[in-house]
Amino acid sequence: MHSEEGGEINVFLTMDVEIWCDGWDDIDRKFPSAFDKYVYGVTPKGRYGLPYQLDLLRDHGLLATCFVEPLFSARFGNEPLAEIVGLIDERDHEIQAHLHTEWVDEALTPLIPDNSVKRQHLFMFTIEEQVELIGRAIAMLRNAGAPPINAFRAGSFGFNNDTLRALAKVGVDFDSSYNTCMYGPESGVMPDIEPTDPFLWEGVWEYPMTTFRDGVGRMRPAQLTSCSWKELESLLWQAVELNKNSFVFLFHNFEVLNPAKNRLDDVVDRRLRKLCRFLDRNRDVFRVRGFRNLSPDRPVENNKSLMLKTGLFDTGLRILEQAWRRRYARRS
Ligand SMILES: [Zn+2]
Repeated sequence: MHSEEGGEINVFLTMDVEIWCDGWDDIDRKFPSAFDKYVYGVTPKGRYGLPYQLDLLRDHGLLATCFVEPLFSARFGNEPLAEIVGLIDERDHEIQAHLHTEWVDEALTPLIPDNSVKRQHLFMFTIEEQVELIGRAIAMLRNAGAPPINAFRAGSFGFNNDTLRALAKVGVDFDSSYNTCMYGPESGVMPDIEPTDPFLWEGVWEYPMTTFRDGVGRMRPAQLTSCSWKELESLLWQAVELNKNSFVFLFHNFEVLNPAKNRLDDVVDRRLRKLCRFLDRNRDVFRVRGFRNLSPDRPVENNKSLMLKTGLFDTGLRILEQAWRRRYARRS
């Protein structure tokens, strides 16, 4: 399947690392158990959180790019953030910045002057506020022990042109907030194109999240919880054949847990293991890397004909698999 003409492709295993208290009431009481659940993935049968996934990747010689959300520490202090940074750094994975503005109005000391309402997305903030928040987020990560940061992803992919201008101002070279399935087309960034390969915009290199059109015509992200292994495998080879520059996967620290986060999702876990083995075996073609020391050299064409697609058969298998996962999740 793999064509002789296809060259190497950069693969970014991006993991958004974040904590939620499942609502905004009584968060100080809920935080310690939320931390165990989201960071360590503590379940009655074992721990399947951040360290579990990072170890699995490292055992296969694969680098994770962890976009770490630090604003929660404006409420809960530097220590839990430093613990997260330590877990990643001691396993030699990359630490970059992620930012969920839902935490802004929960800070003990205001991060910006206007905290009157909770604003869910970065695009709801002025450019001055975005500069301030991104600068603060990076300072928090550095203060928690992270090496220099040169890449960013907005929470829930909710970015806009101002986010890229703010990043340029703060001195961040790379962004990976563009997602054709979520806010990308409304962001004002490269309008009408739905880019799927890196491009330079407002002084920042944008590495869009890899998305594809599935067999029933829906756009989906390249994410373990959203695609079957067969779909992912076919997308990876297709990206090589289309001579794409990069493939950007999305994971979360809680990716292999069921929605209630009290059990391992075996289907997603098997997909992750297959992906690890595949990337390890095919490292001559798929170059897993991060944003540190990245120098984008070749300009890449972005147009809709280069959109990745999966066939009806693979999509059908995934729909069956997802239905089975939902049924199983309900029963346990
Ligand atoms: Zn996030």
